[in-house]
Amino acid sequence: MDEPALKITRGDIVARGLLCHCPNCGKRGMLASWFRLNKACLSCGMDLARSAGIYSGTTSIGYVASIVFVIVPVCFLVAFKVLSVTAGVLLGIFGSFGFIVLVYPVMLCWMVMAYHVALPTELPANGGREGRDE
Ligand SMILES: [Zn+2]
Repeated sequence: MDEPALKITRGDIVARGLLCHCPNCGKRGMLASWFRLNKACLSCGMDLARSAGIYSGTTSIGYVASIVFVIVPVCFLVAFKVLSVTAGVLLGIFGSFGFIVLVYPVMLCWMVMAYHVALPTELPANGGREGRDE
């Protein structure tokens, strides 16, 4: 890999992203609400909308994650008769819904993180361009 030295490394971006901190300045300020990112970081003003193109993937990741972490385990519990079918169905419905709500802000942050791990030079602190040509 022949990259110029990065002020903020991929490791920094991952460490910040996992905690839902801004990849550019490392402060909180990315989330406008539980379900929405700010257009720009409240602390450093980094454009968060730029990586917004991939937010559309957030909900589908949530569905897959809820199937893997909620529905599949519930199916096993029902299959092995740990849970009744009724309890399993209710747990599957409300569990997966609750799971998506619970992890939603984390998914938003991780999408931003993933974008900047892939393109660390896009960060303003790493000399990223303000506008994109594409
Ligand atoms: Zn910031």
